[in-house]
Amino acid sequence: MPPETSPTGHSNRQTVPPRHVLAALDEVFGFRQFRPNQREIVQAILAGRDVFAVMPTGGGKSLCYQLPAHLLEGTCLVVSPLISLMKDQVDAAKANGLRAEFLNSALPADEKSRVAALLSRGELDLLYLAPERLAMEWFLPRLKAVRLCMIAVDEAHCISEWGHDFRKDYLLLDRLVPEFPDVPVAAFTATATHRVQQDIVAKLGLRNPLTIRASFDRPNLFYEVTPKDDVKMQILEFVRDRVGESGIVYRMTRKDVESTAEFLRSKKIKALPYHAGLDNDTRRRNQEMFNRDKVNVVVATIAFGMGIDKSNIRYVVHGDLPKNIEGYYQETGRAGRDGEPAHCMLFYTYGDAVRLKYFIHQVEDPHQRANQERKLQEMANFGSRSTCRRQQILRYFGESYIAPRCGGCDVCMGDVRTVDVTREAQIVMSAVARTQEQSAAAHVVDIVTGRASEAVVRLGHDKIKTFSAGKDAADADWQRAIDDLLVHRCLVRPDAPDAPLKLTDAGRDVLFGRRGLRVFRSRPRVAPVAAPDGAKRKLPAPASGAAPLTYVSEEGLFEELRALRKKLARKAGVPPYVIFSDQTLRELARQKPVTLAQMREVSGVGKQKLNKYGFDFIDAIARHLGPAPTAMPLGDKPPRPLRKRRLPRRSR
Ligand code: ADP
Ligand code: ZN
Repeated sequence: MPPETSPTGHSNRQTVPPRHVLAALDEVFGFRQFRPNQREIVQAILAGRDVFAVMPTGGGKSLCYQLPAHLLEGTCLVVSPLISLMKDQVDAAKANGLRAEFLNSALPADEKSRVAALLSRGELDLLYLAPERLAMEWFLPRLKAVRLCMIAVDEAHCISEWGHDFRKDYLLLDRLVPEFPDVPVAAFTATATHRVQQDIVAKLGLRNPLTIRASFDRPNLFYEVTPKDDVKMQILEFVRDRVGESGIVYRMTRKDVESTAEFLRSKKIKALPYHAGLDNDTRRRNQEMFNRDKVNVVVATIAFGMGIDKSNIRYVVHGDLPKNIEGYYQETGRAGRDGEPAHCMLFYTYGDAVRLKYFIHQVEDPHQRANQERKLQEMANFGSRSTCRRQQILRYFGESYIAPRCGGCDVCMGDVRTVDVTREAQIVMSAVARTQEQSAAAHVVDIVTGRASEAVVRLGHDKIKTFSAGKDAADADWQRAIDDLLVHRCLVRPDAPDAPLKLTDAGRDVLFGRRGLRVFRSRPRVAPVAAPDGAKRKLPAPASGAAPLTYVSEEGLFEELRALRKKLARKAGVPPYVIFSDQTLRELARQKPVTLAQMREVSGVGKQKLNKYGFDFIDAIARHLGPAPTAMPLGDKPPRPLRKRRLPRRSR
């Protein structure tokens, strides 16, 4: 065979027609299209070729080996350094109907033998392993007795001493190619300089691999830098604007981690600390609570992150300056893995750089010291310069970024500031409350601006206290205030823009002065530009000031679906993102499928998940939509009136 089709010399390569590949992509994962580079990688593996791929977090690396594992005869070995992650990875694969298991030291003996039996019977698509297993002498012969279709090496940079996460047991992986010469090996990582890349390829002994270096750009991340003053308060305000969403807050020291977590908790935010000074059990428990959406915020040192596969992290806050751009990129990179907008906030003061320099001065090796100082300076420049943040990051990694404005950072989007809108919020919500939550947005605007419209007069709303309380501002301002309240879930509105606005618990808290409301306001100096590939960037809604109305009106349904997902996840004992990603939930809230066939159209809904969860979701959507002919997919249920529903309990 010519080397490019089977460089590994596998004599018995299986052929898979391209249409089978696409059909399986849809059937198993519910995706209609490949993400960039996935097709090439999958095709190379199917053709028996080794692969080396650097793809950013959230780029969709796991699909690159899970899809071939499904299509090819034999088991795919997945080498991964993180025992703590394996169960979730296996659960996620199983949720899509793949036959996946893991073997590691944490597994009880009877489980191990069950998995070993499945492996020898050829009944596994995927077997996840920690590298040290390859050092167990009895294990290799056992592995050689079964049919392997490929070997995937995850976090491949761990094999390189030049990388930042070197792990000694990864050196054992140099055995893979000699021991399994017929099996293609695919190495994946999210961070590798060119030097690390060469090192990985050499150490693993990859044979003329297809080499992919995807862009480091993360278009769904919004980068922002704010001058740091009272940082705990700033963090609180930022987090409060995102109640119910998952986020990580990084602090430099353990002490700051503890006190920040404590402070947030005292303000009724569900937050837990994470740092190397906590005992193993506490760390594991806190991480698990975060993973399962039981707390919203983890306040952590950089010790937190390697074991995080959670796809629905909506923000990453740096309360202090990171040591270098690599670290900043990696930490912010944990946000928005699912491709949905996420916000990266750095609270910056040059004082932090001074603080860090003090530590660097204690490094003995003068070469290393100079190197670290240089990197720190780059990081400080990032915080203080007013050039596009994205451009600075990509330049740092040696990528040229040609677009003049990225449309996804504070510099390109003008000033992004938080403003206190508590008073306006109270005026609006008071009008909502005093009209028994029966008023639509336009009617509320009439009331607060003091316009005695026919309906206002007929209903006697010109007699209520709030009438004309906001006559000093324009209609558009009040419309925006309502949008803010919807975005921040102080108000909800079932579906249509002309439906009555309802107060939530969070809204009542603001209305009765139990908490304030601050929102992000940007004053764009320029219109958002399209990304270089022509795809329009999605911005985090709160940061862009005026969120599109459709986005806002789905918010109520999205919340309900999120609560449903959490319930189902608890029942199944898996993290919520394993059931559906945030992106799929958003899509469901947008498209509102009420039949199984419609639901199957939604990206991320494969066959297995449709069977398992389809009814629960279309039922919830139908109930949300209220009585309508299309809202009765089950036939036997009478239409339910649109009643006052208890809102999903908000986690705060
Ligand atoms: P990585 O390991 O590269 O960080 P993952 O494999 O965890 O990324 O994938 C990130 C997210 O992208 C997951 O929610 C996954 O379901 C989704 N995803 C992967 N491939 C596709 C695709 N072709 N279309 C839509 N979503 C995808
Ligand atoms: Zn920019």
